Amino acid sequence: MAFSARRLETMNKKTLVSPDLDFKPSNSNTRIIRPGKRNESAQNPRPGDAIGSLGLTSERLRLRMVDRVRSKGVSDETVMGALAAVERHLFVDEGLASRAYEDAALPIGHSQTISQPWVVAHMLATVNDAEPKPRKVLEVGTGCGYQAAVMSKVFPQVYSIERVRALYDTTKERLRRMGYRTQLLFGDGMLGWSTHAPFDAIVVAAAGLSIPQVLLEQLAVGGRLIAPQGQAVQHLIMVTRVSPNQWERQTLDAVRFVPLKPGVQG
Ligand code: SAH
Repeated sequence: MAFSARRLETMNKKTLVSPDLDFKPSNSNTRIIRPGKRNESAQNPRPGDAIGSLGLTSERLRLRMVDRVRSKGVSDETVMGALAAVERHLFVDEGLASRAYEDAALPIGHSQTISQPWVVAHMLATVNDAEPKPRKVLEVGTGCGYQAAVMSKVFPQVYSIERVRALYDTTKERLRRMGYRTQLLFGDGMLGWSTHAPFDAIVVAAAGLSIPQVLLEQLAVGGRLIAPQGQAVQHLIMVTRVSPNQWERQTLDAVRFVPLKPGVQG
């Protein structure tokens, strides 16, 4: 493997203020140590309620969020268009909808989080920066389905795997109801999805200590995988499959994700 390191200090410095959540600052997708009771209903958002009752225009807020992400250096306009189109407030609990357009991770129940918009945009722009453009893309860690929804506006074929049964069930229904074209699987994403491999790109939304070799094998030659790696200290790693037996690895930004876990829950 060839290594070329590029480290950028672009962590989100925003501290989340929430009395019943033990959030750490600088999170991209942070584990919630003590989820509050209200998170239990994260799977059943009532579309638009909080946004509506606060008198906020979600589109205006979303465009402002997109500008913030752009100012942090993401320039892929297809990805930015997708970020502008997906209604992030419909993927979080009603009580958090008013915060949906902050560039921050938020709880979605089951000790998991919806990824920070910047990190979603950055990961998708990184794998999309290839010729030919990726068409068939795998996500590991569907969560609430936000990133899968954004991906479906960038790539023609989106596959996504989730290991928590309850999240899988709710998200499958949510994405279907909202009309997003995605193929979802309840299972261990560390094993990939062999029936649909090879993938032109793979995006991993949870941090492991290493990148599973199976995923690297399910990448098409010329394809890119992006994944957070590490525990207390994590970085995004981009791996390009340059030939059937050769992968090149680059270390990118410092990030903070929930852990990649083997097996399934529920
Ligand atoms: N993509 C989501 C991020 C969800 S957080 C978004 O758009 O916001 C990361 C998700 O990865 C969690 O839902 C967690 O349950 C899931 N996960 C962790 N390990 C996994 C594995 N081995 N296979 C599939 N999903 C996994």
